[in-house]
Amino acid sequence: MSSRAGYTEEILLAIVGPQVIDAVRPVPISSGTVLIGESGRIVAVGSCLEVAAPSGIPTLRASGMTLLPGLIDAHVHLAWDKSFYTIRSAEEFQARSRARNCERQVLRIAHHAQLALAAGVTTVRDCGADDFSVVAVRDAVNSGQFVGPRILVSGRPITTTGGHLYCGWSADDADEVRSSVRVLAAQKVDFVKLVGSGGTNPPGTDITRAQYTLEEMSAAVQEAHSLGLQVAVHAVSTDSICLAAEAGVDTIEHCSWIGGKGGGVQTDEAAVDLMVERGVGVDHAIVPRPCLFADETRMQTAEDRWWLTMLDVRWPFLRHMRDRGVAVFLGTDAIFGPWPGTECWPGFQDLARAIEVMVQWAGFSPLGAISMATCEAARALGLNHEIGTIEAGKQADLILVRQDPLRAPSALREVEMVLRGGELVAMNGRIVLSRSRGAGEMRL
Ligand SMILES: [Zn+2]
Repeated sequence: MSSRAGYTEEILLAIVGPQVIDAVRPVPISSGTVLIGESGRIVAVGSCLEVAAPSGIPTLRASGMTLLPGLIDAHVHLAWDKSFYTIRSAEEFQARSRARNCERQVLRIAHHAQLALAAGVTTVRDCGADDFSVVAVRDAVNSGQFVGPRILVSGRPITTTGGHLYCGWSADDADEVRSSVRVLAAQKVDFVKLVGSGGTNPPGTDITRAQYTLEEMSAAVQEAHSLGLQVAVHAVSTDSICLAAEAGVDTIEHCSWIGGKGGGVQTDEAAVDLMVERGVGVDHAIVPRPCLFADETRMQTAEDRWWLTMLDVRWPFLRHMRDRGVAVFLGTDAIFGPWPGTECWPGFQDLARAIEVMVQWAGFSPLGAISMATCEAARALGLNHEIGTIEAGKQADLILVRQDPLRAPSALREVEMVLRGGELVAMNGRIVLSRSRGAGEMRL
């Protein structure tokens, strides 16, 4: 019997017996079969009764385990580690950026990318760095020279002189915003990141105010869309969220609704109407802080307490936005390594922890929270034709976990097996190097 067995291509691998959360149907397949073809795509998926594995092909028997789409972290910063949190001023951030060593930067990014992949995150969207090193790592992954997740790159964020994440490169009016977008496109970025308001880390900018006008944000959207690029806008303050929604950006990052004096929360229904009307997605993109895991740490700083007060209002509103029809998805704003002064957490658990937070604190169902890091994220990033669900024709980006994440989302902290494009790339938290992987030519 041919391994093609009536399918459109040769079947190279069958995964038989796991519970399958395909991120399409409202309930998982209790015992499923997934067939992966030579193209690295899924050829068939269904219950073991519906889909039979052709005889004589490699078969992974995974009864009792759960198979999910590879996770998508829609907001990371591969270039940075958590020593970032010890930065005390915007000036210190700029000084560190000037002193950065490019070769070490590339290695740090590559290491962080593999930490994410080994944790089951098969796609990351890098939301900004202080140079274009992530482009080199993305290209090395795409050419097969380096094992890593699919990386979407924004390069340097567009910000104002002295604004949030300013490190010597800025745009201060609509014309400068337009030419910055062109510079980014010439550097072969995958999307444009614009810093629409001040931020919390590094400190030193105003988190309650927008940095750009409607005209400037609209210039970014117009220019980027004409070049086929999405625009992601960092928007913490309520006024910047309203402007981003009105400008019709593709995604609003954080969407914290900080309004007025003292950093209180102020939501705006008219902005939600605009998000629905203009198809603006909202990326939660809040770091899962150790204080949200009381069984592991009792540490609670003044900053933690401020975050918790803010999130108390934000989470119900996040559900409200989703119920109103806004595409709500999940990033982590991750910078890598353990929290300074703690052992939280080894490897890369940020996205698994963010999914847990969505269930335990924000009131989403486990399947709803997983969808935010799979199918919903893929849709918001315009990648839903390729990834985000387990369906015939999609890339075979798949993860296997031992426990059932629908019962306990913490099961996602330890991913047993990771496949990217049908190829085994990680097992038990370790990257797997294939001897057959070619040393493709790197296009830099
Ligand atoms: Zn960020």
